[in-house]
Amino acid sequence: MMPAGTQILVLKEGTRRERGKGAQFNNIAAAKAVADAVRSTLGPRGMDKMLVDSLGDVVITNDGVTILKEIDIEHPAAKMLVEVAKTQDEEAGDGTTTAVILAGELLKKAEDLVEQNIHPTVIAAGYRLASERAREVLEKVSTKVAIKDTDILKKVAMTAMSSKSSSGHKELLADISVKAVATIAEERPDGTWSVDEDNLQVVKKQGGSIADTELVDGIIVDKERVHPGMPNEVKDAKIALVDAALEVKKTEIDAKIEITDPTQLQAFLDEEESMLKRMVETVRKSGAKVIFCQKGIDDLAQHYLAKEGIYAVRRVKKSDMEKLAKATGGKVVTKLDELSKDDLGYAKLVYEKKIGEDEMTFVTGCKNPKAVSILIRGGTEHVVDEVERSLEDSTSVVAVAIEDGKVITGGGSSAMEIALALRDYASTVGGREQMAIEAFADAVEVVPRTLSENAGLDPIDTLISLRKEHKKGNKSAGINVYTGKVSDMRRENVIEPIRVGTQAISSATDAAVMILRIDDVIAAKAGESGKGGGKGGEGGDGGDGEEF
Ligand code: ADP
Ligand code: MG
Repeated sequence: MMPAGTQILVLKEGTRRERGKGAQFNNIAAAKAVADAVRSTLGPRGMDKMLVDSLGDVVITNDGVTILKEIDIEHPAAKMLVEVAKTQDEEAGDGTTTAVILAGELLKKAEDLVEQNIHPTVIAAGYRLASERAREVLEKVSTKVAIKDTDILKKVAMTAMSSKSSSGHKELLADISVKAVATIAEERPDGTWSVDEDNLQVVKKQGGSIADTELVDGIIVDKERVHPGMPNEVKDAKIALVDAALEVKKTEIDAKIEITDPTQLQAFLDEEESMLKRMVETVRKSGAKVIFCQKGIDDLAQHYLAKEGIYAVRRVKKSDMEKLAKATGGKVVTKLDELSKDDLGYAKLVYEKKIGEDEMTFVTGCKNPKAVSILIRGGTEHVVDEVERSLEDSTSVVAVAIEDGKVITGGGSSAMEIALALRDYASTVGGREQMAIEAFADAVEVVPRTLSENAGLDPIDTLISLRKEHKKGNKSAGINVYTGKVSDMRRENVIEPIRVGTQAISSATDAAVMILRIDDVIAAKAGESGKGGGKGGEGGDGGDGEEF
């Protein structure tokens, strides 16, 4: 036994540490700050943010996850909210702002409960129950969607894009998204669908206008043919993919040459020429009419290829070579000598086309019909980048809707339905958890509240009329942010995949619960984590401070 009053010092003196409610409130404040940072961007009437880094580079966006990825966040609890945004982005492809502000609101409501001396574990338990129930509610209000329901899928795409600045071209981009995703979707034996978005190539080319953005059946390589004497289009193209240079390494000659008379020089040049000729002959003999070369192609080889009527592209990116292989069914050959007709890929048409300032190569009608690309155009780099982010959102939501086969209505309608159901549910649970479930219900209303705030509406009036409609049984009543009226979101075409909602609920709940349960924040030594923390006794302080 230790003499009474003896303190064991396990932490070095001066270690930064915060415990109990102080730690909780500090964490909650940090998380709320992150939520506040993105709040004003929610919804079609949300604002954009301009992010400027230390080098002066500027990103203008409305995209929750982009904003949070770009800003420097130090506080560990705040970082957890950034993780929420990332998870949401990976799992559902949209709804990042929603997930973050929901997590912030759950914590804000929890703070009130902690102040009333309700223990965080009770709040956590109540939140878990509420989150389960909320997801059930979403299942119940969802409706079915199939891959052939192009109209609904287009609405899903447009809803996801409605808050982006490129939304002036929503129709076109939505149409492209739906066609692209429907092409790459693959049916599973059980009749459900899966979408591998890696099969969708996105190429950005600054210039023109957003309206010139197009869906290309096949692959785009941002390179021109190497010689003007080559055909600028090849039909029924057999395609060689080569990861080897069509060059004679200069050192092979330089190192040994010692020329004493002009005929000798000629002999060496002849030798080089015949080597290049043999390379081109290998390509010709394989039957290839097009060659994509990952390395260089010598001028002379270019000349011979042109004479053979072969379309050649050099220094193609490795990632493009991989895409070409997948799309055309060809094999990337590393030794030119070994190139044979079995290695060749196929496309109905390979052609060169001028896009903006540059010539690009289009490989269309590929052997693999699932190869499609989107060529993004736009006046400036910022526009092109924001269109890319819009398309990322719209293609993901379409993919997710096809995969799950279920959609819900947005504009705060589903959130309202959840709040209503949770308040009923809370009274059946009773006790202190009831208060946590009611707090969850209040927190979910942050979605319609923020949508109306951002639209310049009176959030209180809006929420009151919204609640009234839902009580009457209008499950899809939401906020028309343009007219300021409460209306049926199905009629307004505000439709989202169910996963955007369910994922936002689960990741926001997870983060809130995790942050709530922390009652001890200890500054760990830099770089110690990952070494196994093998220093005896350090954990023996009685507190079970969670690690970040
Ligand atoms: P997030 O990053 O969460 O996707 P957004 O800025 O894209 O944030 O806003 C999404 C919210 O805007 C969703 O609640 C969605 O239902 C809502 N929304 C989208 N289009 C409309 C619309 N036309 N009217 C009302 N609400 C809309
Ligand atoms: Mg969105």
